[in-house]
Amino acid sequence: MSGSRAANGATGPVIILLGPPGAGKGTQAQRLMAARGMVQLSTGDMLRAAVKAGTPVGLEAKAIMEAGGLVPDHVVSGLIDEALGTTPPGTGIIFDGYPRTLAQAESLDALLAAHGRHLDRVIEIDVDEDALVDRITGRFTCAKCGEGYHDRHKLPRVAGVCDRCGSTEFKRRPDDNEATVRTRMAEYRAKTAPILPLYEARGLVARVDGMAPIEDVARGLAALLPA
Ligand code: AMP
Repeated sequence: MSGSRAANGATGPVIILLGPPGAGKGTQAQRLMAARGMVQLSTGDMLRAAVKAGTPVGLEAKAIMEAGGLVPDHVVSGLIDEALGTTPPGTGIIFDGYPRTLAQAESLDALLAAHGRHLDRVIEIDVDEDALVDRITGRFTCAKCGEGYHDRHKLPRVAGVCDRCGSTEFKRRPDDNEATVRTRMAEYRAKTAPILPLYEARGLVARVDGMAPIEDVARGLAALLPA
């Protein structure tokens, strides 16, 4: 795994990217991984891999994800526990899509402590929900390298060919349709947004404007990270 302890032996930061679906958490996490050698722990990615592999977790999660609901807390916290166990000590960590409920936030504190780590920052990516529906319902990725595209905002330079790796295979998430997106946003408002006051009380929360261009959001985020 790349992105282990910095050359000077310093410990990388542990952060949570919080924001509704389509806020750009995954995009920004990818950039931080490349720029800062951090690892991204995305429960959405882990669950999609489990669904694809047909594991018991995948079988349990598939229908819930397709409907835009939340997978049970113990399942996702179990995935995070496993992932922390294989993350080299001292590596900077970006939690993307986890925690999504108060119970998960509590589990995360316990899991981090068990792995000798602690939370440095919670960054909320602020966005306009209607604009998000447009963003999410048009997005697709290269099936080979994961480069992100959009029907209306970022098509490949050569139609049907990935800019980054040249692949001609692309994919869309089955839950990126309007009805499911609306459910996912309602879940965010009802269950995830209430986590913020908990972190605010601990002085951990900072915000970036998620409607700004990707580069500006990335700069804003970088400025908020502990050195
Ligand atoms: P994401 O890729 O983060 O948008 O997640 C896609 C879907 O996976 C969500 O709509 C949920 O169904 C499920 N999921 C991902 N992370 C979690 C989590 N922390 N808790 C519960 N369900 C999750």
